[in-house]
Amino acid sequence: MSQILIIYTGGTIGMMSDPITKVLKPINFEQIMDNVPELEKLNCKIQVHSFDEIIDSSNMNPAIWSELAGLIESNYDTVDGFVILHGSDTMAFTASVLSFMLQNLGKPVIFTGSQLPISAVRTDAKENLMTAIEIAKAKKHDRARVPEVCIYFDYKLFRGNRSFKYNSSKFEAFRSPNYPILAESGVHLKFSLNDIRHPGDGDQLIVHKNLVSDVAVLKLYPGISPKVVENILGADVRGIVMETFGAGNTTTDQWFVDLLKQAIDSGKVVLDISQCKVGTVELGRYETSRQLKDIGVANGYDMTYESAVTKMMFLLGQHEDPKTVKELLETDLRGELTVS
Ligand code: ASP
Repeated sequence: MSQILIIYTGGTIGMMSDPITKVLKPINFEQIMDNVPELEKLNCKIQVHSFDEIIDSSNMNPAIWSELAGLIESNYDTVDGFVILHGSDTMAFTASVLSFMLQNLGKPVIFTGSQLPISAVRTDAKENLMTAIEIAKAKKHDRARVPEVCIYFDYKLFRGNRSFKYNSSKFEAFRSPNYPILAESGVHLKFSLNDIRHPGDGDQLIVHKNLVSDVAVLKLYPGISPKVVENILGADVRGIVMETFGAGNTTTDQWFVDLLKQAIDSGKVVLDISQCKVGTVELGRYETSRQLKDIGVANGYDMTYESAVTKMMFLLGQHEDPKTVKELLETDLRGELTVS
């Protein structure tokens, strides 16, 4: 019989409305189980690890990410797959960072949650939870069907590091427009076999727990002033994620390029991702990005914002040399980007 470990971190799935204040607050896992008697009918053994402090995912942080990675590492040999219950607000960040931390992953790590609490009459939580477990235990020829860090939500399975929360009020909370969905649940559970990654034969899981969150974000807009750019680039950080226009473009104003060059020359890594949710950065396609390439800005291609920020934290935790960090940012490590 398959063994699944459910890790409960919090989120709306396990919240209840306070009878007096009407504010949503987390409940414990036993109360969740009481709401899903169907769990007994799944043909698998379920173990549960509940975090001591159940959180709204807006309070997620790198220390908890390392704890999560450690939990997966210590249970890896004894279970067939993991289901992580997590708030949807920052789920895409956690799924992205775990994809980087878990190298050569050979078992499913499926994140899910819900838009309505599990106790609500119209809840989306039950379907999300039951199918996430089905996916975590799905095997073919004794191998996991989806040995990836994924998000399962509203009948779709996404690669975690390709997804983002797109809607705060629909059940369809996530999208991954730059990569196909990995499975869809309807009458049958249909896996997109050609789009799922598998580790190489004999590759052992390696867990990287060190993250460095010295990262700043520079989101461009027409009219951004030298003072603002100077402050962000001058912050005491090692990495800057720059959200640019269209295919990776910025203003060509000399002061802007000079400030970027100064930051890079001082040892900071600057990564270019687009404010567009679909498409890719093409450094050098327009005059407005050619100079960025020349001064050593890293190309983020079609990475999501969530992947870009967490990949930066991950790589800064592994490497001191900015050149190595830049090179790896531009490399497809876990299926998070397509080099074009
Ligand atoms: N605020 C909640 C959280 O992210 C929202 C959710 O669970 O969907 O924890």
